[in-house]
Formats: sequence, C-alpha cells, structure tokens
Amino acid sequence: MSRRPLIAGNWKMNGLRADAKALAGEIATLSKAQSDAAFDLLVCPPFTVMETVGAAIEHSDVFLGAQTCHTAESGAHTGDISPVMLKDAGCTHVIVGHSERRTDHAESDADVQAQAITAHAQDLIAIICVGETEAERESGQALQVVREQILGSVPAGATSENTVIAYEPVWAIGTGKVATPDDVQEIHADIRNTLADKLGQDTADGMRILYGGSMKPGNAKELLALADVDGGLIGGAALKSEDFWAIAQSCPSL
Ligand code: PEP
Repeated sequence: MSRRPLIAGNWKMNGLRADAKALAGEIATLSKAQSDAAFDLLVCPPFTVMETVGAAIEHSDVFLGAQTCHTAESGAHTGDISPVMLKDAGCTHVIVGHSERRTDHAESDADVQAQAITAHAQDLIAIICVGETEAERESGQALQVVREQILGSVPAGATSENTVIAYEPVWAIGTGKVATPDDVQEIHADIRNTLADKLGQDTADGMRILYGGSMKPGNAKELLALADVDGGLIGGAALKSEDFWAIAQSCPSL
C-alpha cells in the first residue's frame, strides 16, 4: 500500500516571532516552488508564534500543528491549550505523547489516549509518539515497551486519516545517535502488526508511521526508504529550512 510521507517539524520550545516568521516563510517558499511534491509538510511551532507561523504559511501547502493539547475542550486548566483553541488557531495536527511531555509532565499512555480522543473530536490529526528508553533497549524490552505504548495510547476510534504514529527512541532524540535501519524497520513493522491487532489490517496498512530521533539530511534517505517508515518527525534539523527541506527531498517518490 502506498502511504504519502509526512515530514513534520517539531520546533519544541524554540522560536521568537521574528525567527519563526522567517523560518516558516522559507519553508512555505520552498514548498510553493514544488507543487507536485510527493510528501506532506507540517510545522509544529510553540503556541506563542502559532499565529505568526500560520500567517507565514497561509498560501502554501504546509500544514500547521501543535506540540500538545489538553484533554478538555475548555475550562479551569491554567496554562493549558485545548484542541478547540488549536483548531481555532488554524491547526490541522497535534503531536501527543512526545517523550519530553511524558517525562517533563508525567503524561501516561491513558493521558495521551485522552488527548488524541479530544483532538479527533475537533477533526485534528493526532500524531501519537511512542519509543523506548536506552535502558529498555539495552535490556531487550524495546518491542514490548513500544507495543504496550501503542495499545495504551492509541484510541479505539483511530483511523488512518485521523492518526499518525511517530516512533521515537528516547535515546536518539537530540543526541545525534540514530537507530540502525534494521532496528527501525523491525519496530515499525511490529507497530503495524500491533495496530492491525487493535484496529484491523486495513487501518494499520493505511496508517503512517514516522521515525524520529536525530534525523538529518545525511541519514534521511536510508531511513525514509524503509518499507514501514512513512516520514519523519524532526526536531533539531527542522529549525533550518535547508535541512528540513533536504530531508523532505529524501522521501522516495510515490
Ligand atoms: C523530536 O524531538 O521529536 C526529535 C526527533 O528531535 P531530534 O530530531 O532533534 O532528535
């Protein structure tokens, strides 16, 4: 089955209005120059520059996403942002369950699943992140840990249209260490099998599974060519338009 690759930039807690506007504008310009692109492009900036970035990509095919959301639509949740607000701000996607959220904010699989359900209710595409720690990989538990995260974080109502999975080994995020292509393919294939058990084979076959963790222009081609890798979730390299674009250009043609 052919799945359209998604190249998603997670800007994390980076970007003031001037640099965010410039970066988003550069990405929009590159995207406009290639109207027949065989991939989707998404940028996920911090909330404070959402409007700035939204304006900079307005007349392009670049999608706008957020890095997290609350499980409620509104109410007494100081400092939080709801999927309704994200939709209102022009977002089409939201990352949920990034390992930095799971660690810094103690988000559990159940929390992540609840976020995805609220996001789906607003017609937002949830990018659900999973991935093992270094200790879990070294003790041979990577497959089992990721399987449990998929079963616990992906809602029963997930479809290939409303959900994307991102496999991000925690030890590879921002470290320059990258999982080997064989390890990435093994985990991605296992994720797809777990999705098939949970959601049915057709949904699993259509769902995009991204790799994330120190993806760069120099390693993207090999990773993006793997049978069960359908794009990338990119942190550091998403902050330079030329690197982000070079990664996108490494997608195999459909
Ligand atoms: C991420 O934070 O999702 C990520 C993959 O970061 P980096 O590309 O910097 O490893």
